[in-house]
Amino acid sequence: MIIKTEQNEIQDYLKDASNTNGYCEAVIYPENTDEVISILKRANSEKTKITVCGNRTGLSGGSVPNGGIVLSTEKMNRILEINEEEQFAIVEPGVLLSDFLKELKPRKLYYPPDPTELNCFLGGTVATNASGSKTFKYGPTRDFVIGIEIVLASGDLLVLDRGKYFAKNFDLSITTADQKRIELKIPSVKSLPTKNTAGYFCRENMDVIDLFIGSEGTLGILTKLKLKLLPAPQMVLSAVIFFNSEDDGLNFIEESRNESFNSRINKSSISIDALALEYFDKYALDFLRQDFPNIPEDANSAVWFEQEMDEESSNSITDLWINLIEKHNGDLSHSWIAMNEKDKLKFIEFRHRISTKVNEFISSRNMRKLGTDFAVPDEELKKFYFKLKNDVEKTGLDYVIYGHFGNSHIHLNMLPKNAEEFETAKKLYDNMCLSAIKSGGTFAAEHGVGKNKKALLYEMYDEKVMSEMWKIKQTLDPNLILCCGNIFKTES
Ligand SMILES: Cc1cc2nc3c(=O)[nH]c(=O)nc-3n(C[C@H](O)[C@H](O)[C@H](O)COP(=O)(O)OP(=O)(O)OC[C@H]3O[C@@H](n4cnc5c(N)ncnc54)[C@H](O)[C@@H]3O)c2cc1C
Repeated sequence: MIIKTEQNEIQDYLKDASNTNGYCEAVIYPENTDEVISILKRANSEKTKITVCGNRTGLSGGSVPNGGIVLSTEKMNRILEINEEEQFAIVEPGVLLSDFLKELKPRKLYYPPDPTELNCFLGGTVATNASGSKTFKYGPTRDFVIGIEIVLASGDLLVLDRGKYFAKNFDLSITTADQKRIELKIPSVKSLPTKNTAGYFCRENMDVIDLFIGSEGTLGILTKLKLKLLPAPQMVLSAVIFFNSEDDGLNFIEESRNESFNSRINKSSISIDALALEYFDKYALDFLRQDFPNIPEDANSAVWFEQEMDEESSNSITDLWINLIEKHNGDLSHSWIAMNEKDKLKFIEFRHRISTKVNEFISSRNMRKLGTDFAVPDEELKKFYFKLKNDVEKTGLDYVIYGHFGNSHIHLNMLPKNAEEFETAKKLYDNMCLSAIKSGGTFAAEHGVGKNKKALLYEMYDEKVMSEMWKIKQTLDPNLILCCGNIFKTES
C-alpha cells in the first residue's frame, strides 16, 4: 500500500473544487477493503484522524483534511460486475463516473444520476448523495444505490442491501459482518418538498442503507457499491432555448415542469416529460460567451432541456416542445437544437462549463466559492429568484445565476474581486440561505454540508435534531476519527 508523506507530493489532497484549504501529515492509498479495515483499526486505536477523499470535486470542503491522514480511494477503482440481465453494477468507490458511463454505453445501459462534473468518483457521489440535471426525472444518487459495503471507524465491516433492514419507528439496529449489534436512535426529520443533502437522512421506519448515503464520510468509508441501472433511452431530444426576458425563461420552465409532472401521473407516452430543465441567466450567458460565441447578443435567459424519446414518438414530442417554446416567446431561430450526438455533448459541456468557469474564477482570486446550493418549493421559485436578484444587484457585486431549475434549485454564484467584496457576499449568501430554509426548502440541495456550511445546518434543524444526529456520529465513531469537521460544529 502506498503512503505519501512528502508535502510537495500531497498538495493536491489539501483542497477541493470549492478552493477550501486544509493540511495533513500523509496520504494513504488502500487497494481493497481489507486494507481499509486495517487502516481504520489502527487509526481508531491511535485516535488518528482520517479524512476520506474521492476525486476532490466536492464543493463544500468535505474531503479537505483538518490534519491527520487523508485516505484516498483512487486505487480502489475496479468495476467488479456489470449485470446486463438484472441491470445492476458492483463497483469500488474510486471508479470515475466518466469511465463507468463509458463502460455502460456499448451495453445500452444507463446510470442517470450524474452531478454535472463527470470527473468525480462513484464513492464521492454516494457519500454526498449527489444529483444533477437528470435528477429532475430520476431523482438523486440515493435512488440508484441498492447496496453498499462500508467500513466503520472501528474497522468493523457493514454490508447493507436496500429493502432488507429497516428502522422500527425511530430505533435502528445494525449488525456488522462480525455480528456486532449497534443500536441507534434516529431523529424525526421532516421530509422536504425539495432535494436535500443537509445532514443525515433520518425518517421513521427508514431503510438503514439511507443513513449512510449522503453521510459525507462521517459514518464510515464506502468500499463497494451496488448500483441500479436502466435500459438506455433510444434517443434524447436536447435543446438550448434563448429568451429575451427572464420572465419568459422562467415561465417556460414552470410550464414544462407542470406538464412533465402531469405526464408522469397520466403515464402518457406522447407528451412533454423533461429529463432535464436547466436555467442560465443573462450574466451566466455573458460569462460563457467567449467560449460559445453563438450565444445571441440579446439573450436575457436560456433553458437547456432534454427529453427521452423513441422513433415513433419523436416527431410528435418535438412538435409539443416547439409549441411550448413559441408560447413563451423563445427565440427559435437562434436557439440550438441538437441534430446529432456531437451537438448533444456540446450542450452538456455548455452546462458544465459555467460551473467550471466560476470555480476557475474563484481560485484565480484565491477565494472560497460562494455559490448557493439552495432549493425552494416549486411554487416559490419565481418570487424567490427575483428577490435574490434584487438583493444582489443592490450590493453591486458581480454574479451569475444558473442551476437545476426543474428542481427549483438555484446556483447563484457571487464573484467578489477582493476581500471586502467577499465579506459583503458572504453576508448576503448567509441571508439568502436562511430565506431558502424559511421558505420550506434547504440551503444544501446537492453539495452537502462539508466543512463550509455547518452553521446553516444548525439554523435549519433544531437543537434536538442536531444532538440526536451527533449521537449517531458518536455511537458509530466514538473516537471521532472520521472526516472530522464535516457536518457538525461540535468537531474541529
Ligand atoms: C464543475 C463542477 C460541477 C458540479 N456540479 C454538481 C452537480 O450538479 N451536482 C452535485 O451533486 N455535485 C456537483 N458538483 C460537486 C461534486 O462533483 C460532487 O459532490 C461529487 O459527488 C463529489 O465526488 P468526489 O469523488 O469528487 O468526492 P470528494 O469531493 O472527494 O468527496 C466528497 C465527500 O464525500 C466523502 N467521500 C468520498 N469518497 C468516500 C467514500 N468512499 N466513503 C465515504 N465518504 C467518501 C468525502 O469525505 C467528502 O465528504 C460539481 C463539482 C464541480 C467541480
